[in-house]
Amino acid sequence: MDQVIRAEGLFKEYETDAGPVPVLKGIDLEIGQGEFVAVMGPSGSGKSTFMNILGCLDMPTTGRYVLNGRDVAKLNPDLLAKLRNEVIGFVFQGFNLLPRASLEDNVALPLVYCNVRKSERISRANDMLRKVGLEKFAKSFPNQISGGQQQRVAIARALVNRPKLILADEPTGNLDTRTSNEIMHLFRALNEEGITIVLVTHEPDIAAYAKRLVKFMDGNLIYDGEVSEAHA
Ligand code: ADP
Ligand code: MG
Repeated sequence: MDQVIRAEGLFKEYETDAGPVPVLKGIDLEIGQGEFVAVMGPSGSGKSTFMNILGCLDMPTTGRYVLNGRDVAKLNPDLLAKLRNEVIGFVFQGFNLLPRASLEDNVALPLVYCNVRKSERISRANDMLRKVGLEKFAKSFPNQISGGQQQRVAIARALVNRPKLILADEPTGNLDTRTSNEIMHLFRALNEEGITIVLVTHEPDIAAYAKRLVKFMDGNLIYDGEVSEAHA
């Protein structure tokens, strides 16, 4: 199995007025192409810090992170941005849509940075909206659809660059149970197409959609294995 993610001895500390605070204390983790991994752990245990490093939005203090075969520490900012654009789609808890842009323009946005022509951008955005069941709303605006639909749009935007990896930090955190389950069905379908998914959640019912569970506690990985009632 090809590795999409290889983290070796990731250590992260933040400087604060009270001195350096360690937040990740030596994380080793490998994730292969096609996996679906749920990340759980108490608030403050380091999940988002870890996801930001996986997404190349932050760097570890020490340790090595290899994304899709590339050691990110060895890339200059332009190459790192290119790698991130090509490999990763992000989905956040807040949907982070542009309020004054139509849904198709929101979904097309990542392509603006990839030298794709406008007509091609709009056509691909509409393909992705169709994939998440929202093609009828291409010309609507974010405030005209529900929260669950907005998260679908955010997922369509994450997919428009055809990433092999989706990183999702509490993507159902703002959604009711039924809508959360619909979103998780969509993630599962994407995973079945071969997209690797790493998804942070507080909720055992949401983690149960994944095939593998990792748990953080105080900056350490304390569990890596099957998702089961006992562990989720
Ligand atoms: P989680 O996502 O599991 O809730 P985070 O990764 O957001 O945890 O945070 C882990 C710890 O790091 C928390 O104690 C948090 O207060 C601290 N932290 C996060 N970001 C910063 C920062 N920029 N500066 C200082 N401390 C931070
Ligand atoms: Mg968090």
